[in-house]
Amino acid sequence: MTERTDALSSLGPCATCNGREQYFESAIPLGRTQEVWRVVCPCGIASMRWSVTKIAAASMWNRHMAQYERKRRVSFPVKKW
Ligand SMILES: [Zn+2]
Repeated sequence: MTERTDALSSLGPCATCNGREQYFESAIPLGRTQEVWRVVCPCGIASMRWSVTKIAAASMWNRHMAQYERKRRVSFPVKKW
């Protein structure tokens, strides 16, 4: 298995839109030579922090979504669309 399919298959659905259309975004920060990655959802939600590998970016996304879920459950009622 390649890193790409591994990372993509471990992505959880978006906590806000429930979508699974997330994609990886890469950038090279100032003063760095290596790319960093994060996961972005078309609805506008993205990982809070950049990671050095796609795998790490995927787990960062999953953690972000878990926190998002928790926060939403505590602070305001879930809307049913
Ligand atoms: Zn979304």
